[in-house]
Amino acid sequence: MALTHYACTNCGFWQAYFAPPPDCPVCTDVRNDLPEDGWDFLPAREAEARFTGEVRQISDGFWAARTSPPLGLNGQGWLMRKDGVNVAFEGAPYYTNAMLDEIETLGGVQILAASHAHGYGALWQLQARFDPEVVAIQKDDLRMTKAFKVTLPYDDALELLPGLTLHHVGGHYEGQAVLHDEGAGRLFCGDVFKIDQTEDGRSHAISSHKAFHKDIPLTHGELQRYRDVIAPLDFTEVCTPFEHAPDVGRGACVAALDRALSETPKVRRYALKDLS
Ligand SMILES: [Zn+2]
Ligand SMILES: [Zn+2]
Repeated sequence: MALTHYACTNCGFWQAYFAPPPDCPVCTDVRNDLPEDGWDFLPAREAEARFTGEVRQISDGFWAARTSPPLGLNGQGWLMRKDGVNVAFEGAPYYTNAMLDEIETLGGVQILAASHAHGYGALWQLQARFDPEVVAIQKDDLRMTKAFKVTLPYDDALELLPGLTLHHVGGHYEGQAVLHDEGAGRLFCGDVFKIDQTEDGRSHAISSHKAFHKDIPLTHGELQRYRDVIAPLDFTEVCTPFEHAPDVGRGACVAALDRALSETPKVRRYALKDLS
């Protein structure tokens, strides 16, 4: 049996294995649900025929990569160009050949990173195609990275480029990290925040979770760590692995954490209009 990549169709997590894997470490973990009808692993060789996708420009030097139909948690991959260097953060669930060609015309990927396992998507494909010099994951999540190869594990913070810095926040996942783009005023916040949006993309509520599906709250210690790391950062928009929220900035994020810290631990979705 040859080593290949398999996606868990329940959550989208990819594993390198020599046969359909026995289980999925994301789904067996408390932070995701198990599939209702047993495991269904999609081998990479069957994925190209099943998906389409797009690399869509959002603004100058900033793109989002999406896959359809949805695969697993179905996040999106972000791509930004800084000083002529392309940085990919989080991954689309699958990159079609056309999507990879599109990224190649944009200059490929020189630096690759992600917040935590729910945002990895098919990062392994970006590494296989573009062989980026830096693949950075916080050291406490290294155990989740078997599908690709981390070149630069880090402790508390890692400056990828001037003004573009990873900060370890933990909480939801032990090794969860946020990426702060100082110049753009943008925080790639992983699952530190879940942003509820209307159909047309307007943000209306914000929440934080240890486990989203089971509504398990974070402890005050975990929330305080989020606040300690995020409050000193300046930003006017956030990007989770799932949502782009150009209308949620530092003020709402810090206010949501302060509200949660003032109450007994419970998952609450705070209306953004009540937070400013
Ligand atoms: Zn899974
Ligand atoms: Zn997550």
